[in-house]
Amino acid sequence: MDLKNIWNSFLEKIKEQISDIAFDTWFSETKLINLNDNIATILVPYHIHKKNLSENYNDIIEEIFTEITGSNFKFNYVIEEEVENNLTDSNQVIGVPNNNDIYESNIDSRYTFENFIIGPSNKFAATSALAVAEQPGKMYNPLFIYGSSGLGKTHLMHAMGNYIIKNSNKKVLYIPCDKFVSDFVDICRKNSESNNMEAIKQFKNKYRDIDVLIIDDIHNLVGATSAQQEFFNTFNELYNNEKQIIISSDRSPDDIKKLEERLKTRFNWGLQVNILPPDFKLRMEILNKKIENNELSDVVPEEVKEYIASNCVGDVRRLEGSITRVFAYATMMNGSEITLDIAIEALKDDYSKSYISKNKMDQVIQIICEHYNLKEEELLSKKRSNEIAIPRMIAMYICRVYLDENLTKIGIQFGGKNHTTVMHAVDKIKKEILNDESLNSEIQKMINEIR
Ligand code: ADP
Ligand code: MG
Repeated sequence: MDLKNIWNSFLEKIKEQISDIAFDTWFSETKLINLNDNIATILVPYHIHKKNLSENYNDIIEEIFTEITGSNFKFNYVIEEEVENNLTDSNQVIGVPNNNDIYESNIDSRYTFENFIIGPSNKFAATSALAVAEQPGKMYNPLFIYGSSGLGKTHLMHAMGNYIIKNSNKKVLYIPCDKFVSDFVDICRKNSESNNMEAIKQFKNKYRDIDVLIIDDIHNLVGATSAQQEFFNTFNELYNNEKQIIISSDRSPDDIKKLEERLKTRFNWGLQVNILPPDFKLRMEILNKKIENNELSDVVPEEVKEYIASNCVGDVRRLEGSITRVFAYATMMNGSEITLDIAIEALKDDYSKSYISKNKMDQVIQIICEHYNLKEEELLSKKRSNEIAIPRMIAMYICRVYLDENLTKIGIQFGGKNHTTVMHAVDKIKKEILNDESLNSEIQKMINEIR
């Protein structure tokens, strides 16, 4: 629970126990602004509140507050100007925050499990995320989510944060890694200027005083030596106290170059889950979900959705951007009608690259040939040696699952193969990647190259 929630629960309870007039006068304008070292700091409107609350209401306040938080706190009442003075006097921090946001969770309430659409490419990640959110600190620690940009890592992390805040009283903190680094570097710089150890201590406390740390884009830790050290310490302390740590990255821990070995080792202690690019079906589902709430949603023809879904292969963010652009364009053109022509016009700059190749299957063929060092004639030939047949099957698989091309068209594109041949190839690769993680990630890399 964050400060706001704690105080709201407190206010609800005390309201039941005192008269309305007493509540309105003494409590209605109060706010909990810090919890630190067993001191709860309450912001009140006037001096008289400080005196009256501490002299006449102290017992009942303490009793209710203990009931809610499960621990004993001393109370410190402050008025606005005292908080402001403390803001400028950074040596004086105990009991009074130098920043009201210190215990803000930074969780974005828009991203939830409910609006995260699940498909084969993210199912394992989403399921693990929910398992961790249900039992923070107990199931998998740390949970390490990785995958390329725009695939829903940040969304899932906020979803976990929202779930935990709603269903427990654990203190959650979300922080993008680069913010962690820049805050730390800032504080160290200030410290060397004015020798203010208190600020460093406060920074450390901020991260150690929480139950769930969610740190996004950890690959940004690379290059920041002192921040890496600090993160290492934070990690150990949280981990040893069975606090949940949730980490995301654009690649697996082993692939983060220049990350200290000891951190990689720790990231391997828990569970690593990979999010892959969504297949065509999932892209269509996400698209439908995203436009559901738009007033124009009923007038988006299926072919427009298909056009967008087939152009945005490796990235959900791009999918969202495209539909927003089409809506904006249609509105701007003074009509609410959305047609394929309008969509093509609206997206022509975004998709300009894809216009270069006459169709996306050509691109797949190119990518596969480059990757396996084959000539196009070889790939499209009837040769059956493994060095050629396997890349060919992979290419067919990508065309089927990611481009949603039909079997007959794929057969024609690949040198006049029968549609059952294509079907067997697709099935074979589907089975193969279930057991072969390295083949799987190789294929994902190639899919990410499709533009
Ligand atoms: P990442 O952190 O992996 O770069 P984000 O979490 O920021 O990606 O996702 C980019 C956008 O795509 C966000 O707006 C997110 O809500 C949306 N998104 C990604 N995956 C899904 C999904 N499975 N269902 C719904 N929205 C999704
Ligand atoms: Mg992200």
